[in-house]
Amino acid sequence: MNHAEALAHYQSFKQQGLKLDMSRGKPAPEQLDLSNHLLAAMPDFKAADATDTRNYGGAVGLPEARALFASLLDVPAAQVVVDGNSSLALMHDTVVFHLLYGATGGTPWSKQGEISFLCPVPGYDRHFAICEALGIKMINVPMLDGGPDMALVEKLVSEDASIKGMWCVPKYSNPGGVVYSDEVVRRLAGMKTAAGDFRLIWDDAYRFHHLSDENIAIASVIDECAKAGNPDRAIVFASTSKVTLAGAGLAALASSPANIAWWSKHVSVRTIGSDKINQLRHVRFLKDRATLEALMEQHRQILKPKFDAVLAQFDALLGGVAEVSWTHPKGGYFIDLLTPPGKARRTVELAREAGITLTPAGAAFPYGKDPADRHIRIAPSFPSLGDITAAARGIALALLVAIGE
Ligand code: PLP
Repeated sequence: MNHAEALAHYQSFKQQGLKLDMSRGKPAPEQLDLSNHLLAAMPDFKAADATDTRNYGGAVGLPEARALFASLLDVPAAQVVVDGNSSLALMHDTVVFHLLYGATGGTPWSKQGEISFLCPVPGYDRHFAICEALGIKMINVPMLDGGPDMALVEKLVSEDASIKGMWCVPKYSNPGGVVYSDEVVRRLAGMKTAAGDFRLIWDDAYRFHHLSDENIAIASVIDECAKAGNPDRAIVFASTSKVTLAGAGLAALASSPANIAWWSKHVSVRTIGSDKINQLRHVRFLKDRATLEALMEQHRQILKPKFDAVLAQFDALLGGVAEVSWTHPKGGYFIDLLTPPGKARRTVELAREAGITLTPAGAAFPYGKDPADRHIRIAPSFPSLGDITAAARGIALALLVAIGE
């Protein structure tokens, strides 16, 4: 399509006056409906050990909730904490606890001068927001096909003791859909770090969120760290936000016994115990790993056609356009659309003028700065299939117009 044709199609798209929001990876209402049973009145409130879940206590989670996450994350239950509804909140608190109290047996990060985190890019904007809010410097590391550029990661962490952490979304990463190879997991677990208190913030947000039928599994970072003699290096985070209810699910973290003791000590200052009623009803609803996987298959049935609709529009309108490409994720919640250099911001602007709200260009980079201005994060989950199809067409037309300008 030449520029004049693209402009004409774009203008007529704009005249439809659509209002389409593709900005955040939220589950759609029909996905949330899959877990409505959770909202039925509970017949009783007693946990397996006779704990009255309506009362205070249990800051590390009900035994049966810890056991459920243990089976999901392939770790012993004693190495799991179930707390609250948001894994992002647990990651935030983990970083804050390190700043204020230090890692197990270490000096508080806040007393060690400037500290920094490695940030595989493109990555999750809310991770970067935590660093920015807490004054932690961010260092970009390119994301490659099988995970972050490990040669660069190994070099940086071996030379610079101010690098205290690294954000990792190891499976179906946000937004690139990258799956870390087992070799990358092993290298991260075993690499030499100048900082003795270096931590992998391992955000396993999309562990069960397959879009293909490959059901990809990757090496356990906790096992690999233990094997490499760095048992306290990784802290794994997960939640049921996109399994059950995004506003009222369960969140969990898993790590070494020493880190679980460390967390329990510090968290006991901030709570007398989290919502055990929600834990109990989740355990009764999700039951076990097989039941959860069956539920995730229902999510896939809803999500897959939406991803396919976006890919079909991109194929039709953008196929063969120079320097334009997009990811074909096998799981997760996002498609990463790559524009020619310098065109992402303008495309998002043109899309907005045509009624489509997208995540701001640059959001997937620390400080909101995509150096090449190339990445646009597409979140197909929330709108209806019809709206998604329209929005993908509008985005593609906006990009074609931006390219022709
Ligand atoms: N981590 C990643 C990579 C995400 O994409 C999201 C949500 O989009 C979250 C964490 C948020 O998780 P939670 O709802 O458990 O706070």
